[in-house]
Amino acid sequence: MFAQIDDGLNATLEKIKTFIETEILPLEPMFLNHDFDGLLPELEKRRNKVKEMGLWTPHLSKELGGLGLSLYQFGHVSEAMAYTPLGHYVFNCQAPDIGNTEILLEHATDEQKERFLKPLINGEIRSCFAMTEPEHAGSNPVYMSTSAEKDGDDYVINGHKWFTSAADGANFAIVMAVTHPGEEHLHKRASQIIVPLDTPGFTLVRNIPVMGEVGTGYFSHAEVRFENCRVPRSNLLGKEGEGFLLAQNRLGRGRIHHCMRWVGISERALEMMCRRAATREIKPGTLLGSRQTIQNWIAESHAEISASRLMVLQTADKIDRESSSAARLEISTIKFYVAGVMQRVLDRALQTHGALGMTDDTILAYFYRHERASRIYDGPDEVHKRVVARSLLKNYSGKYTVGF
Ligand SMILES: Cc1cc2nc3c(=O)[nH]c(=O)nc-3n(C[C@H](O)[C@H](O)[C@H](O)COP(=O)(O)OP(=O)(O)OC[C@H]3O[C@@H](n4cnc5c(N)ncnc54)[C@H](O)[C@@H]3O)c2cc1C
Repeated sequence: MFAQIDDGLNATLEKIKTFIETEILPLEPMFLNHDFDGLLPELEKRRNKVKEMGLWTPHLSKELGGLGLSLYQFGHVSEAMAYTPLGHYVFNCQAPDIGNTEILLEHATDEQKERFLKPLINGEIRSCFAMTEPEHAGSNPVYMSTSAEKDGDDYVINGHKWFTSAADGANFAIVMAVTHPGEEHLHKRASQIIVPLDTPGFTLVRNIPVMGEVGTGYFSHAEVRFENCRVPRSNLLGKEGEGFLLAQNRLGRGRIHHCMRWVGISERALEMMCRRAATREIKPGTLLGSRQTIQNWIAESHAEISASRLMVLQTADKIDRESSSAARLEISTIKFYVAGVMQRVLDRALQTHGALGMTDDTILAYFYRHERASRIYDGPDEVHKRVVARSLLKNYSGKYTVGF
């Protein structure tokens, strides 16, 4: 069974929860009002306070200024920070920076670490990850058109990407590009290359409108182009042809981060659902929460969230003890299961709030719009279900051993 949450972690969780309640939640109306410009200086002040409290970049080792947590322990922290969409950013462990930090830590050269990783950890810059292309199925990204051709000491990159989250205002992108088009093994054709976004030839075409919101800065998803974009070959991450290997390393931990964030969001939605049900009168003296349907929603949500939390923590524990590749079945299982739970819980919470749930006077409509994407990014539901089913079917002999 799991390690217990020790007193130290409990105290940290309490500090984070209090900070979120007193310092970050008051900023949510500004966020829901799309006042991003007004929000940034306020967020900066909160980020400085988090540094002073010693809670900055909690996912990193103590030597790097973090809390030295295991993935299992960080799962708890991530759930607490997810109470608000601003939480992970204020503590400097937001996607895609957290994933890029992990890739750079593991694969960057000393020079790359000095130039890109250090300022990322300090919160001085932001980054993005550019893999998906509008012209190809992102759920099977081995097929891509973006190329990086060698020319002397440089790579010359040409390509079209979209849904490059947080590219607006980012300092650099980690770009997946084909360096070995003739390679027979499809997973060995692409490499990851760091591209500073002030490089001539890089264009941010637009921030894509998503579910009625365009967004800016960290809260955006961009369409971008690379046209004869020249970067030194020393910007290669890892080895040539290892792009998918690096991406796979990143995704295992990344899915724990996402899933625990979704558990936190679901828990907040349940809390709001209960508060509303326990106070809204449907006629004088009769509360909404007296109705069996609402009670069923509350009970089912509680059960599903509790199951999700245990599944994700168990997977994190397995990654801690073994590796991401050893936990492939569990990672795919939690990816589609927890995203589905969050969708259902948000839907019930919104329904319980009636018309109020449709407004931006509460956080529910934002979560409902924004988190629909959870069933698509980092692998759509259907792809993960296939991984799970194929892995289980392999345990059976006879007709299931071939052809699935
Ligand atoms: C909000 C958001 C943020 C994102 N951020 C980033 C980012 O920062 N960087 C980046 O590179 N990408 C990012 N993405 C892109 C994301 O990774 C892709 O959208 C995802 O991989 C799916 O690819 P696709 O959209 O091309 O869908 P497609 O591959 O065209 O698939 C469409 C649908 O087909 C179905 N399907 C696909 N394959 C199968 C299968 N094998 N079996 C059954 N059904 C299947 C699924 O229902 C799927 O939703 C983001 C996407 C969103 C929505």
